[in-house]
Amino acid sequence: MKKAIYPGSFDPITNGHLDIIKRAACLFGEVLVAVISNPEKKPFFSLNERLKMVKEAVHGVKNIKVDFFDGLLVDYAQSAKASSIIRGLRAVSDFDYEFQMALTNRQLSPNLETVFLMTDYKYSYLSSSIVKQIARLKGDISGLVPKNVAKILKKI
Ligand code: ADP
Repeated sequence: MKKAIYPGSFDPITNGHLDIIKRAACLFGEVLVAVISNPEKKPFFSLNERLKMVKEAVHGVKNIKVDFFDGLLVDYAQSAKASSIIRGLRAVSDFDYEFQMALTNRQLSPNLETVFLMTDYKYSYLSSSIVKQIARLKGDISGLVPKNVAKILKKI
């Protein structure tokens, strides 16, 4: 059974992330959504808040597990016995960074393959940052994030 890791900040999880998770779940025996505990990006939501939102959003989708990690992704992937890393691609703008990360991870761990999945076009403009901006300005974020996340964002 092939196991894949989908790492990210998920600050917060959006429908774009969920789209990638569901696509990956059709391709792999198990998908481990791994929330980066202390990303350099200085997340708006705490690790516990981000984890809780992801867990609630994927509840009921079988073969998906949720965890968090600190440190090098390749080390975590090895300890979790995963053979692939999943990353989502939205637009060409994602490519440079993702290409660099994938090749760096290959250098660090040659057997760990990075697999890119393309999002549905309707989520191709969507990011956690834009969702937070809209929420702060009291815009309508339903349709962009799972219901549990929308509830929380309405309070920020
Ligand atoms: P990171 O800080 O690792 O970039 P993110 O939570 O921002 O974490 O993103 C995790 C992964 O999900 C990345 O591969 C990113 O390109 C992808 N992603 C983010 N938003 C979308 C979206 N709307 N559609 C598809 N993939 C996305």
